[in-house]
Amino acid sequence: MKRNYSIAIDGPAASGKSTAAKIVAKKLSFLYVDTGAMYRAFTLFLIENGKNPCSEEEALSLLPLFEMKEDKEGHVYLKGRDVTSRVRENDVSNEVSYACAYKAVREKMVELQRKMAEDESVVMDGRDIGTVVLPHADLKIYQIASVEARAQRRYLENQKKGIPGTLEEIAKDIERRDYIDSHREHSPLRMAEDAIVLDTSNMTIEEEVEEILSLFSKKAGVKWNDTEQSL
Ligand code: C5P
Repeated sequence: MKRNYSIAIDGPAASGKSTAAKIVAKKLSFLYVDTGAMYRAFTLFLIENGKNPCSEEEALSLLPLFEMKEDKEGHVYLKGRDVTSRVRENDVSNEVSYACAYKAVREKMVELQRKMAEDESVVMDGRDIGTVVLPHADLKIYQIASVEARAQRRYLENQKKGIPGTLEEIAKDIERRDYIDSHREHSPLRMAEDAIVLDTSNMTIEEEVEEILSLFSKKAGVKWNDTEQSL
């Protein structure tokens, strides 16, 4: 019987994880799971229902009502509404690191994430995938890049999507989220002991994808053939 594989990609904000993860998943015909989008969807759910994400009591009061779906391409749906672009907007980015820090929120999301990886091979990106969600992943990548490189990439991305903000504001948001994410009590952002560090500051997205595919082939002991696009 064919076994399921998993690739965990963690790292700080805007390090290019999701762009690379999406392409890698497509090339391998694996399911792509954007876990940041799940926490973003929960944050949007709170905002739209007039709850303050910084208040644990208010955030948890809506947790039992929270339902979301993520499709194979990483599109996110809140009660059937496609919120993929909406969750990248600044109001959500500003609050997500607070809304995702509560233990009960993380437990619910981790359960959903593990379920998604149960029956399929996955590429999952986030902050705690290699440490908490998939501790037995076949390959764990910890992706880093300088704040300048990350801000520049996010700035160009936001411009394309029409999301306002200067380069300086974006750099500040990235640093602020990294600080909160790595200092929180429950599953903070940190590198798994068996993760491989990938510094993408000076890498193109093609080089990054190539590197992850080659590391995966070596680690999982499988040959991946670009022309066949399957394992
Ligand atoms: O990956 P992205 O930047 O979209 O994630 C948004 C936020 O969600 C992060 O800054 C972090 O606060 C939170 N997050 C998390 N754990 C994950 C994925 C994201 O805490 N696995």
